[in-house]
Amino acid sequence: MQILIAEDQLRETVDRLARQIEETYSGRKLTIVGLLLGSVAFLADLIRKISIPYELEMVSSRQPMDNSERPGPLVINPDVLAPVVEGRDVLVVKDIFDTGETLWELIPQLDDLGAARVRSVVLLVKEGRRRMPVQPDFKGCDIPDLFVVGYGMDHLGKYRHLPYVAALDPDEIAAESPS
Ligand code: 5GP
Ligand code: MG
Repeated sequence: MQILIAEDQLRETVDRLARQIEETYSGRKLTIVGLLLGSVAFLADLIRKISIPYELEMVSSRQPMDNSERPGPLVINPDVLAPVVEGRDVLVVKDIFDTGETLWELIPQLDDLGAARVRSVVLLVKEGRRRMPVQPDFKGCDIPDLFVVGYGMDHLGKYRHLPYVAALDPDEIAAESPS
């Protein structure tokens, strides 16, 4: 395991993103939508740094039990989301921007619920992996194309507790994966 982003760098990154978000949404009706599960630590830190008012809701992707790199389909409850999305500026909070497929699937659904404008903030962006014509609006750190864990992100339920972001070695991944 190799540490990619240490605790103090995570803190500085979250602070910077929070300032950008406050500047962008000052005087606007902001709704933050956390995309669980991997973003849970990032989300918890980020919302405590944003001092302008906002509504908060969550969307979840089903956890695949076999391969943790590909998330399952999104679980969206329109009855819960619509009242906090309609007519408001929506900011999706996500752990990793990898292929872009999740945002590509989620953003039109938030548009359909009447969002005034949908943007996204992602903590980590994987180099060279994007497959969909979508980009994060606020970006934390660029990382190489490696499987990362820690700071809320897991591999088969492990490593979420780590206070830093680390890359697993291929042999560590293979050793833990079901054969
Ligand atoms: P997308 O491909 O839709 O941009 O992102 C897919 C999702 O896959 C991410 O939100 C994240 O939950 C998961 N994912 C992608 N790469 C990694 C990784 O390196 N580590 C972990 N733990 N999850 C990942
Ligand atoms: Mg996972």
